[in-house]
Amino acid sequence: MPITLHSGREKSLLRRHPWIFASAIKQMDGNPASGASVDLLSSDGQFLARACYSPHSQIRARVWTFDDEPVDKEFFRKRIRAALHLRGSLFDKANSLRLIHAESDGLPGLIVDRYGDVLVMQSLTAGSEFWKETLADLLVEETGVQNIYERSDADVRELEGLKPITGMLRGKIDNFRLTIEEYNLKFYVDIQHGHKTGFYLDQRHNRQRVGQFAKDRDVLNCFCYTGGFSVHALAGGAKSVLSVDSSADALALGKENIALNNLPAEKATWLEGDVFQLLRKFRDENRSFDMIILDPPKFAPTAAHAEKASRAYKDINLLAFKLLRQGGLLFTYSCSGGVDAALFQKIVASAALDAGADAAIIEHLSQGGDHPVSLHFPEGAYLKGLVCVKG
Ligand code: SAH
Repeated sequence: MPITLHSGREKSLLRRHPWIFASAIKQMDGNPASGASVDLLSSDGQFLARACYSPHSQIRARVWTFDDEPVDKEFFRKRIRAALHLRGSLFDKANSLRLIHAESDGLPGLIVDRYGDVLVMQSLTAGSEFWKETLADLLVEETGVQNIYERSDADVRELEGLKPITGMLRGKIDNFRLTIEEYNLKFYVDIQHGHKTGFYLDQRHNRQRVGQFAKDRDVLNCFCYTGGFSVHALAGGAKSVLSVDSSADALALGKENIALNNLPAEKATWLEGDVFQLLRKFRDENRSFDMIILDPPKFAPTAAHAEKASRAYKDINLLAFKLLRQGGLLFTYSCSGGVDAALFQKIVASAALDAGADAAIIEHLSQGGDHPVSLHFPEGAYLKGLVCVKG
């Protein structure tokens, strides 16, 4: 069923950007079902792409293919194989990593994380929902992994008119708390109750980086979740690690992760609370650290929230610069799509200025390569990080 676009609105498709907004649509023939495939035509009737239809979302269609080819099981097999090939050739030894990263792997709406012998799948759009059973069959066929747990409970599904769904999609497992490996360290991952699919795989190589810099340092890990950075810091020889999060469940698992790796529990302290308040308290108590990690949740999902988010980023970074000793390292991140790398760097610079700190960037960080960014879909580059040294 074809959708004809307004004149000029074919431009983004010609640049291979996969989204079509409702406002770009001039005419629609028929009444396609939610998630069904539709052809996108230019105003003069030329075929541009084949896409999935999202009747409830402002992003009305997302492109499956720019070629005039059937969208069927074999099409999805090809896409999944390409995604697996990328991971296989780059990340041979990792037993836990992201296998499918939605638009950036040509599969809008589909996220698949592998945790050992379990796949955790998120279906986020009408299109991925339409093909979900086929996709699940293909994932088993192509990865050989028998167990798929579905975590389609992200808020964005609401925009697509989809209800939250969780549960086993394929196979059977008795224990939803898995043990995974990351650079020779082990982590418990609660795929049922944990955030997103259970673990923040996007910070995998950044956690390793923290471990490499942590030796003999007093570390403060803010927004620690289940202690990913804390475990790597202790394994890397940190003198002490103070980990802060607002979630008691996450902290409890963090403590267990220290024990799981036989790391010295007496060097690890866990504090439940609000980072914004605790950083102020630490400042008032004149506490100081040799390494501070700031990995907050998404403050700005879209550019519309950028201003408020900027204030929040500036606040915590300013306080962190104050708490850092001379020669101390700040690992600071933003996972907000609405704040790009240039803006984030400006915020961190202005935080250092107002803290009266002289600081320099020694490394730029991003999401791991198993979360690729299609050059045609810059929105896929959501995670940015800076390592700064305080002079
Ligand atoms: N660095 C972690 C992931 C951090 S996710 C890792 O590598 O696994 C962000 C965390 O921030 C979540 O665990 C959430 O519970 C916590 N959080 C959100 N707002 C907070 C606040 N105001 N104070 C403390 N923790 C907060």
